[in-house]
Amino acid sequence: MKKKLIAGNWKMNGSTVANAALVQQLLEGVNQVACDIAVCVPAPYLAGVGALVKGTAIAVGAQDVSAHEAGAYTGEVSAGMLRDLAVRYVIVGHSERRQYHGETDAVVANKVQKALAAGIVPIVCVGETLSEREAGQTEEVVKRQLAAVIHTNGHCISEIVVAYEPVWAIGTGKTASPEQAQQVHAVLRTQLHAATAHSDRVRILYGGSMNAANAAELLAQTDIDGGLVGGASLKALDFLAIIAAAA
Ligand code: PEP
Repeated sequence: MKKKLIAGNWKMNGSTVANAALVQQLLEGVNQVACDIAVCVPAPYLAGVGALVKGTAIAVGAQDVSAHEAGAYTGEVSAGMLRDLAVRYVIVGHSERRQYHGETDAVVANKVQKALAAGIVPIVCVGETLSEREAGQTEEVVKRQLAAVIHTNGHCISEIVVAYEPVWAIGTGKTASPEQAQQVHAVLRTQLHAATAHSDRVRILYGGSMNAANAAELLAQTDIDGGLVGGASLKALDFLAIIAAAA
């Protein structure tokens, strides 16, 4: 059985003081955990949080990476820079990046490629909007999003983490039911299976209003290998409860 991964997405939240307090509370609570844990923090805090969690059970992750290697791309952060800071994971293609920054499937696929080339594990987000779900397009949408990443990254695909994040469930308090989530995870698993002989290595996380109350049931599903947690990752006790549910 794969070790589960619980990754927090802090989004654009935090400060030096608040981060130190949150990390300290987490470190006090994560003794002898049986799952992998990451906190994906805003770029300015990667080094600081990295120093706080160095040598602990918590890995540090970024929330985005450039699709370019280096050069005249003002404001962007390259995969090489993330590697320099010992970043282990990077969220790629989060729906907020797709929605507010116009990231296409092709851009997401290139970002995944840059992360993999730098030895950083991309957490690749896929998910349908409410109108796509209501139109019966969920499967088609997530398969299209993942297909672009598979197409560009070939056999390296076994090194990625996938996060199924229905857009309608992100930050809304609406969670996909365990059955709804499992159904989509199974579709993604089959797609990965067709793409690589090592699909069993790929963890598929669920994300979308995961919290202390619903985590255990979601994480008990056959094809749910962890969680990508937004709001609840900012509250130490909630995040620790989700971690405990995964162990
Ligand atoms: C996310 O931002 O990836 C997320 C899942 O957010 P939330 O848990 O707040 O819905």
